Amino acid sequence: MATALITGASQGIGACIALRLAKDGYHIALNHFPSDSDKANAEKVAQQCREFGVNAELFAANVADYSQCETMVQAVKEQFGSIDALVNNAGITKDGLMIRMPEEQYDAVIAVNQKSVFNMLKLAGAVMVRQKHGRIVSLASVAGLYGNPGQINYSASKAAIIGMTKTAAKELGARGITVNAVAPGFIQTPMTDALTEEQRSNMLKLVSMKRYGEPEEIASVVSFLCSDDASYVTGQTIEISGGLMM
Ligand code: NAP
Repeated sequence: MATALITGASQGIGACIALRLAKDGYHIALNHFPSDSDKANAEKVAQQCREFGVNAELFAANVADYSQCETMVQAVKEQFGSIDALVNNAGITKDGLMIRMPEEQYDAVIAVNQKSVFNMLKLAGAVMVRQKHGRIVSLASVAGLYGNPGQINYSASKAAIIGMTKTAAKELGARGITVNAVAPGFIQTPMTDALTEEQRSNMLKLVSMKRYGEPEEIASVVSFLCSDDASYVTGQTIEISGGLMM
């Protein structure tokens, strides 16, 4: 049976993707940030994955740290034997207006959202090259496609993911590996719970479907991109935003 590694899978969209891929029949390697609370949440997600009859194990690592990613990828390979799908989901926001944003606030978001994707594309990509197959999906954002006031750091990191996806697709395609991204709009998760009512209603005005998205609506597209049905889809970024800009 195939194995999927999902980063930042202790809550929100990542947890939902883990459950969906478990339902699809993947064994699940759940990455979580190395903290007690993330571990406890990830264990609950792993338990729910196991109810689909697959194996699910936890792998603690700060994905912004290359050596922690290296150790994690080795451990997943040793425990499961292969890495057939990788979902780069871990991400953070640290919003603020550009002219007031301290340099560290910019760098912190780039490290977690963008550098982590390099770490994982390189390390899991090398495993997939040896296997001669693989599916990679990274979480971009509509902020990376269109920009968003207060998110210079976040939109830079997510735009970078779109470019990295195209480059990795070109480098890995001949080895039977597809590399795609999804660009969610406004999805109901702990990340967006932090927004004010005013920010929420302003965003909703722009959404054609006049509702927020659910994490399951991201997971279903990721599931497709990780399936055999998507065998000739690569280098693409699929917007999942309920019709934000057209
Ligand atoms: P979330 O609920 O905050 O979940 C993000 C997960 O990533 C958390 O479990 C978090 O752990 C983990 N994480 C953060 N930094 C990490 C690190 N250095 N190493 C390992 N794990 C780390 O956010 P979400 O809404 O589910 O977002 C998931 C992805 O979708 C993100 O990439 C986000 O940018 C993207 N996205 C979300 C939306 C949306 O509307 N929600 C829209 C567009 C794109 P901690 O809780 O410990 O930080």
